[in-house]
Amino acid sequence: MVGIPSAYKRDASERINRVSSIPFALAHLVPLAVIWTGLTWRDVVVCAVLYQARVFFITAGYHRYFAHRSYKLNRFWQFVMAFGGTTAAQKGPLWWAALHRDHHRYADTPDDIHSPLKGFWWSHVGWILCDKYKATRSDRITDFARFPELRWLDRNNWIGPWTLAVATFLVFGLRGLIVGFFVSTVLVWHATFLVNSLAHVFGRRRYVTHDSSRNSLLIALLTNGEGWHNNHHYLPSSARQGFFWWEIDMSYYLLSALRLPRIVKDLHRPPERLLDTNRVRDGFDIGMFEIYAARAGGVVGAARQHVSTTYDHARGSVVEAMASAVAAAEDLAHQAKTRPA
Ligand SMILES: [Zn+2]
Ligand SMILES: [Zn+2]
Repeated sequence: MVGIPSAYKRDASERINRVSSIPFALAHLVPLAVIWTGLTWRDVVVCAVLYQARVFFITAGYHRYFAHRSYKLNRFWQFVMAFGGTTAAQKGPLWWAALHRDHHRYADTPDDIHSPLKGFWWSHVGWILCDKYKATRSDRITDFARFPELRWLDRNNWIGPWTLAVATFLVFGLRGLIVGFFVSTVLVWHATFLVNSLAHVFGRRRYVTHDSSRNSLLIALLTNGEGWHNNHHYLPSSARQGFFWWEIDMSYYLLSALRLPRIVKDLHRPPERLLDTNRVRDGFDIGMFEIYAARAGGVVGAARQHVSTTYDHARGSVVEAMASAVAAAEDLAHQAKTRPA
């Protein structure tokens, strides 16, 4: 992943905006303040609770509900799920889910916004820090964009994180804000980003899909079940992403529990008949073949660019050398002509 030329070239509009990225960078520095404030077990517990809660709102809410409609909520709980998602400071539910639908539609093609084939760091964090993808693509999510309260929340997505930050400060003090809010926010960011970057690079493939998605227990543990990413690309409308009992999927267990008070309804599970079909072990993994072909194309393109640059440079030097030789010869001829006999 590092040192390999990107398979796809990013265009000029896919540049990181360094100025608007400053708050994001500063949020990563705030946790360093514990050097001066110190921390207690209570701060660590607040951090862990806020991490777990917000990973749930992002994975079960933004991802499995808003992007994939893998279960049903009534309008009240739908708003609660959306508001909970905004507290993770990953913009609004419509913005998030619309872009994620595009990820599935174009996975690992040049139109995939955050494919690692455009570079690992780009897929992890770069695409979020560029201006090109800042707008909400409402046309991709008309089913939820018809709710005025969700459109309002999407526009005012700052209310969630600010409310939570102020509440942690008022209830738990400065350390509560720094450790409880900022540390957990940064951790939730990178857990979410891992699914876009590492879950397409690290792990094993069980199902043949037209992308580089992989299954990883480690990523599943960090993200409450999103690490079963190859399963998910295979059957995106399933609310359960760990297909087998040993594939730990905390977000699914919690969604299952929420069926009892009838908050969650019509929870989609993977159809039994599809669990043992389209296995990589049974045939040719056309998906990875396409990925290798794209990577090979990137290497050939980079080599061609290198040869062409080297050739242009060499040609420039030869032309320059010839021009100086001609000038020197002309000078000599001129001196010979003007020398007195
Ligand atoms: Zn993916
Ligand atoms: Zn998805």
